[in-house]
Amino acid sequence: MTVTVRVPAKVNVQLGVGGLRADGFHDLANVFFAVALGDEVTATAGEPGTGVTLSCAGPDADAVPLDDSNLAARAARLLAAHHGLAAADVHLHIAKAVPVAGGMAGGSADGAAALVACDALWKLGTPVEVLLELAAELGSDVPFALVGGVALGRGRGEILEPLPVAGTYHWVFAVADGGLSTPAVFRECDRLREEAGTGSSDTEVATPDADPALLAALADGDAAALAAALTNDLQPAALSLRPALAATLRAGTGAGAIGALVSGSGPTCAFLAKDAEAAEAVAAALRASGSCRAAHATYGPVPGAAVTVGEPRGQ
Ligand code: ATP
Repeated sequence: MTVTVRVPAKVNVQLGVGGLRADGFHDLANVFFAVALGDEVTATAGEPGTGVTLSCAGPDADAVPLDDSNLAARAARLLAAHHGLAAADVHLHIAKAVPVAGGMAGGSADGAAALVACDALWKLGTPVEVLLELAAELGSDVPFALVGGVALGRGRGEILEPLPVAGTYHWVFAVADGGLSTPAVFRECDRLREEAGTGSSDTEVATPDADPALLAALADGDAAALAAALTNDLQPAALSLRPALAATLRAGTGAGAIGALVSGSGPTCAFLAKDAEAAEAVAAALRASGSCRAAHATYGPVPGAAVTVGEPRGQ
């Protein structure tokens, strides 16, 4: 039997970063937005004793680790262990469209997809609340890939509150050459805060909160207001580590994007367009500008990880 799960990537339409906590994390006010650009994970029952095996295809496949560190493999083993299964014999194939280490949580998405795929393959019927707990164990961005839509993430990002949203928004993602390490971008954010004299600890930086103007724009389906409210506190750090991204952002806004920001920890840049046609035009202009490796027009919000082939959950 085979189960295929489709899972969205995310863009953070607001990423508010608090000060560095004693445990090494930062408090976040993180508004996640799920986009149709996503991966597919296919789970196929393996021969007894094979354990979890992996394959990956797609433009960035060479950058995806196919060892035990892969989040999809970790998710399969975690789910099996949670249910006390003697073995997790499964082959996971990842059809990778999300840029790797691009700030779009592609690895987290694959982890969420593998949880859903293995749950269906092994007919476990794991309650959603339990899947969300397992997802949070795998990483801060994994629960959102299960939920999809638009949600506010607090804490390290793993405490999720779904947000009301109207309409469909048209996005363009400009993919950079090579990735950026998320921990390195947070360290650079702290360093820039120290350099600016504001301090970087959680006693010195105000705890971030969701921006009411951004939440109202989403609820109203107002793309122009959302574009005006887009913020990413990690953007100065990503630009400091990768100054060439400034030219990418300029190329997109010059081509008519109504909003632009670095996606999460970067280096992917995200652009909001007024409609699907404008998004195609922005993507074409970005490709022609030579300021990115690829540009994809897409839309959102879309639902979280869901079975497309095989037996859907709860049916
Ligand atoms: P985030 O936005 O959550 O910080 P990201 O989009 O910047 O993440 P990912 O694509 O999730 O980055 O990959 C970060 C690292 O995770 C990669 O460099 C890779 O070594 C590792 N990784 C583990 N599993 C996967 C996977 N299934 N796909 C891609 N990368 C993975």
